[in-house]
Amino acid sequence: MKDLEGFKSLISEPKKVVIVTHFKPDADALGSSLGLAGYLKKKGHAVQVITPSDYPSFLAWMPGNEEVLAIEKNNSSVEEKAQQFVSNAEVIFCLDFSNLNRINALGDMVREAKATKVLVDHHLEPEHFADFEHWDPKAASTAGLIFDLINMLGEKSSIDKDIANCLYAGLLTDTGGFRHSNTTQKEFLIASELVGAGANPSWVSKKIYDTNTLARMKLTGFVLSQKLIIIPEYRTVYICLDTDELKQFDTKTGDTEGLVNYGLSIEGIRLSVLMYDRKEEIKLSFRSLGSFPANEIARKYFEGGGHRNAAGGSSKLSLDETLKKFLSILPDYKSQLEVDD
Ligand code: 5GP
Ligand code: MN
Repeated sequence: MKDLEGFKSLISEPKKVVIVTHFKPDADALGSSLGLAGYLKKKGHAVQVITPSDYPSFLAWMPGNEEVLAIEKNNSSVEEKAQQFVSNAEVIFCLDFSNLNRINALGDMVREAKATKVLVDHHLEPEHFADFEHWDPKAASTAGLIFDLINMLGEKSSIDKDIANCLYAGLLTDTGGFRHSNTTQKEFLIASELVGAGANPSWVSKKIYDTNTLARMKLTGFVLSQKLIIIPEYRTVYICLDTDELKQFDTKTGDTEGLVNYGLSIEGIRLSVLMYDRKEEIKLSFRSLGSFPANEIARKYFEGGGHRNAAGGSSKLSLDETLKKFLSILPDYKSQLEVDD
C-alpha cells in the first residue's frame, strides 16, 4: 500500500465499515472478508459484510457467517438494506475483485457511495476506483494480502483463531491446496503465521473439501464417467452441463466448484473448461497450465477474466452455441497449446 500512514489514520478511529466481495464468493472472497471483519470489529469498528449473491454451504462454518448480508435474486428488501449500509458507510473495503462490474447490483451502489474506498485484491487489470489500494497480482490469495495488511499495521498479534481460520481458508483454496504455481515461499510463511495464530489446517480442510453431499459426489461421478470430453489435438478437456443434468443431481451453489480441475489432472492436458447453464447465462470456468493464458480467452470471448491459469466468464448464447464458440477459438491457440512450459 502506497499511503500506509493515510490508511492507518483512516481506520484509527471507530467507523461505519462495509466489506464487499465478488459475485458467488469463494473461500478466498469470503475468508478474506470475514477475516478482515473480525480484525476491524476488534478495533471497535461497526462492520457489515455484504455479498452480491449466495455462496456455497461449505463456507458457512466461517466465524461471522451468520451476520453476512447476502443479496438474493428477486428480493428487493435485502437489496434496499444493502443500499442503506453502503450509503451510510464511512469506509468500504472491496476484496478479491478489481472491477465493480463483478459485484452486480452492488457495483453502482459502491461507485456512488461517499465512503472512502479501499481495494485489497490480487486480480489483473484493476479498475482503480479506490482511494487506497493494497493490490498485488503476484499474491496467491486476497486472504494473504489481508494478513500482509494487518502485519504492516503492526497488528499481527490481534489475529486470533477465528480470523486465522478464515484467512487460512482463502490461502488454502486459492493455491489449490498449496499445489498451484502461485504457491511460493511467501504463501508458506503466511500459512505458518496463521497456524501460529491458531488456524487449524486439518479442520479447515475438512470443512471445505470433505463435507460433500451424496448428490454432489454423484454429480462428480456422472461428470467423470459421462461428460468429460478430451480433444487430444488441442490438449484440451471440456465439460458441458445443461439445466436438466444439474437438476438431476439437485445441484446447489458450489457443487460444480472443482470439476474443472479434473480435466487438468489428465496427463498431457493443458487447458480445461467447464461450462454450465445458470439459466440467466452460461458460466464458464477455465484452468490452464504454464504460460497458457486462460484469462485471455475468458476476457476476449466470454466477458470475463481472472488469473493466467484460473479464469472465468459468461455467455448469453445457448450452451450448444457457447461450446461451438469455444471450439472455434481453439485453432488460434494451437501453437500455445502444443508447448510445454
Ligand atoms: P472460477 O472458475 O473458480 O469461478 O474462477 C476462477 C477465477 O476466474 C476467479 O478467481 C476469478 O479471478 C476469475 N473469474 C471467474 N469468473 C469471472 C467473471 O465472470 N469475470 C471475471 N472478470 N473474472 C472471473
Ligand atoms: Mn482470490
